[in-house]
Amino acid sequence: MRLTRYFLPVLKETPAEAQIVSHRYMLRAGMIKQASAGIYSWLPLGFKVLRKIENIVHEEQQRAGHIPMLMPTLQTADLWRESGRYDDYGEEMLRITDRHGHDMLYGPTNEELITDIFRSYVGSYKALPLTLYHIQWKFRDERRPRFGVMRGREFLMKDGYNFDLTKEAALHAYNRHLVSYLRSYERMGLQAIPMRADGGPIGGDYTHEFLVLAETGESEVFYDSEVTDLTFGDRQIDYDDVAQCQGVLEEFTSRYARTDETHDEALFNEIPEDRRRTARGIEVGQIFYFGTKYSEVMDATVINDKQEQVPVHMGSHGIGVSRLLGAIIEASHDDKGIIWPEGVTPFHCGIINLRQGDEAADAACEGLYTALTNAGLEPLYDDRDERAGGKFATMDLIGLPWRITVGPRGLKNGVVELTCRKTGESVELSPEDAVARVVGIYSAL
Ligand code: ATP
Ligand code: MG
Repeated sequence: MRLTRYFLPVLKETPAEAQIVSHRYMLRAGMIKQASAGIYSWLPLGFKVLRKIENIVHEEQQRAGHIPMLMPTLQTADLWRESGRYDDYGEEMLRITDRHGHDMLYGPTNEELITDIFRSYVGSYKALPLTLYHIQWKFRDERRPRFGVMRGREFLMKDGYNFDLTKEAALHAYNRHLVSYLRSYERMGLQAIPMRADGGPIGGDYTHEFLVLAETGESEVFYDSEVTDLTFGDRQIDYDDVAQCQGVLEEFTSRYARTDETHDEALFNEIPEDRRRTARGIEVGQIFYFGTKYSEVMDATVINDKQEQVPVHMGSHGIGVSRLLGAIIEASHDDKGIIWPEGVTPFHCGIINLRQGDEAADAACEGLYTALTNAGLEPLYDDRDERAGGKFATMDLIGLPWRITVGPRGLKNGVVELTCRKTGESVELSPEDAVARVVGIYSAL
């Protein structure tokens, strides 16, 4: 993309309404525009990152054997009356009446709708196990929408639902979700720590929230510092291997890590003092096994191999797709702007022409642009007729991990400059070597 043909409405001023850094940078970098409280338009740059995050989520869910689909945003109230949640949900639910007087709602989550789909088609244990998911907009009329996309009213969520014959099978589905979430967050350059969460009125031990440590997080968290040493890495996983998935769960959840809702001071104090940590975190996902809560009231049953009619065991598993943009920026920025991890960056590499209109500089930039594009990457070429300082400031703000700077002086010696956004380190290389270096970095992902 050439910047002169793109739509990147960068703001010079820091918007007064933004209280935290991710919100400020998303507004300043022209990624989002508030449409009304807690509701945002996704401008091209923000939309690009949103799609990258979605793609990672899709890939990792499908790798785990989970099946993508799409349910509507608007739901009928009748299903929620069946489960009893129409009244329970309270003011967070946006209720709508259509022209025929039917009560509708903008879905805050999809347990009822998916259970209805399941019971309409599935009657035998032979169709199990089954996990369906979608990535769809949700609406929750939050009392205090704030921090930009972190706590919106309209937000994008991946929500997946498993249907299994037994509790054991459903817990394997739970473990598959835990593993696939660890992989997803790491691909986004994030460490998200599974922490034991509160099961709410249903209770039970089978719910974990995934938290990204950040000062601006809304959750208070308590953990053994050893949990921050754990990484999933590039290990191979067989999602059908029950013991292997269980092993990952145990590895990542055996040390103390809890949110304030389940915090147990006595247990916490058993950790050696130098490893005890109290911090703040951003919830970027949650997994939940809830057994037959919905299947019983909504009559989602199957015939088992003894010819008995039994309710299925279910769980639901969410990832805060739009909140993740905020969480990634909170975890990765400096005073000049965003620093995108390579896995989610909107463009792979910036190209800055220090002397627009200079024949050699223009030709070199075009050459880099073509070479990077032909290698399957998306460069962003700042081809504006602007001062170098302004170009650097924009590039730093939007946070592309790599930048190639081209100027007439370097070109006389046959070199351009390749700069890493994160470390600020630059090397002089021939244009061919600079391209090879950048291509190599992304092909290793
Ligand atoms: P919170 O406690 O932050 O209100 P929640 O526990 O109610 O979230 P879940 O029902 O677990 O949310 O939804 C799954 C994921 O969706 C959350 O882990 C979070 O990342 C994201 N999410 C929830 N509410 C919002 C919101 N208002 N804006 C953006 N993302 C959200
Ligand atoms: Mg939650």
